[in-house]
Amino acid sequence: MIIKPRIRGFICTTAHPVGCAHSVQEQIDWVKKQPTLKGYRNVLVIGASTGYGLAARIAACFGGGARTVGVFFERPALRNRTASAGWYNSVAFESVARDAGYYSKSINGDAFSDEIKEQAISVIRKDLGDVDLVVYSLASPRRTHPRSGAQYTSVLKTVGEPYTGKTVDIHTGVVSEVTIEPATDDEIGNTVAVMGGEDWDLWIQALEAADVLAEGVRTVAFTYIGPELTRPVYGNGTIGKAKIHLEATARELDARMRKRNGRAYISANKAVVTQSSAAVPVVSLYISLLYKVMKEKHIHEGCIEQMYRLLKDRLYAGPPVPTDESGRIRIDDLELREDVQSRIESLWRSVTTENLEAISDVQVFREEFLKLFGFGLPSVDYMADVDPNQPLWCP
Ligand code: NAD
Repeated sequence: MIIKPRIRGFICTTAHPVGCAHSVQEQIDWVKKQPTLKGYRNVLVIGASTGYGLAARIAACFGGGARTVGVFFERPALRNRTASAGWYNSVAFESVARDAGYYSKSINGDAFSDEIKEQAISVIRKDLGDVDLVVYSLASPRRTHPRSGAQYTSVLKTVGEPYTGKTVDIHTGVVSEVTIEPATDDEIGNTVAVMGGEDWDLWIQALEAADVLAEGVRTVAFTYIGPELTRPVYGNGTIGKAKIHLEATARELDARMRKRNGRAYISANKAVVTQSSAAVPVVSLYISLLYKVMKEKHIHEGCIEQMYRLLKDRLYAGPPVPTDESGRIRIDDLELREDVQSRIESLWRSVTTENLEAISDVQVFREEFLKLFGFGLPSVDYMADVDPNQPLWCP
């Protein structure tokens, strides 16, 4: 079939297999040009099909030869519906990794469930023996609790007070004011249940109980801190509450991992265009300005540059691993540089619908958004007939 983008709000309901493959290949090619990484052998990535998790998998494998097990929740093609982008990304990753002689296995299913944890453990036990790095990069709008069956849905709201601020509709380029209402206690609790640290802890517990964590294992999960501008919506909002829980979990896990000479970390990452961040109001406008400013200063990074730097200059740079005073790994250092933020603040004050295209990288945001789904790549012939059915080998 000929596959075209079909955009519904913050999501594109179609994905292009060839475009996704090219975009995965671009990341692989970039990593292969960098100095070789070392420090790990067997890597489990939870949330491995898009965004930061996919980039971590690519960096670990093609940067340092890791054997990787990737867990994700993606949709295969069905009749005249394309598969999801993460499915095609994973098909592409598996194919290139295997052709290059790297071990790689993927598990598609709900990572919040006990069943998927057991599947991952059985693959690790059978094929790898153990894992020495566990990257936890899930971003999900909902979670079913594996024991109680309770269903939680996360919300993007403020806590306490409503917040009114600028935002942009990236598709139309209209800059407007948006008011985000405060969440109820229930909504806060639900968001913490989905995006907090409980599931990361359950993964580590399951891996510990199965005795598949290597001596010296490291585990890392991701947060976003960001500047004052995004703080009401992100850091001080419902998602921020979930991240506080994630950080508390990291401290508990760290104490447990130290007993096996390992460590658990939180890494504060840069704001990038992913399927998750595209949905956050205010942040979309902030990212459009951030990209412009960081590109002007030649310090722009996407997921792959961030994940490579996480492995090379942070997780495996020590001992000791460089962290801030709270023990967090910081790879948002360039984003939060004073000169970057003061420039964004001044652009933020003046940005309107009329000057948006000129003073921001909203066009780059659009291109990156489309690219998440395999569209808009100059190397791809979008008029060519493609088979949406791409098998992904799962154990
Ligand atoms: P993403 O949407 O690109 O990726 C999410 C991944 O989780 C995908 O692989 C998806 O398949 C997987 N997933 C979702 N639900 C699942 C489930 N039930 N079972 C198995 N897999 C499931 O997200 P992202 O933006 O890369 O975010 C990853 C992490 O990085 C999050 O913790 C996020 O808060 C953090 N982070 C993101 C940004 C940003 O700007 N995007 C910045 C800093 C930190």
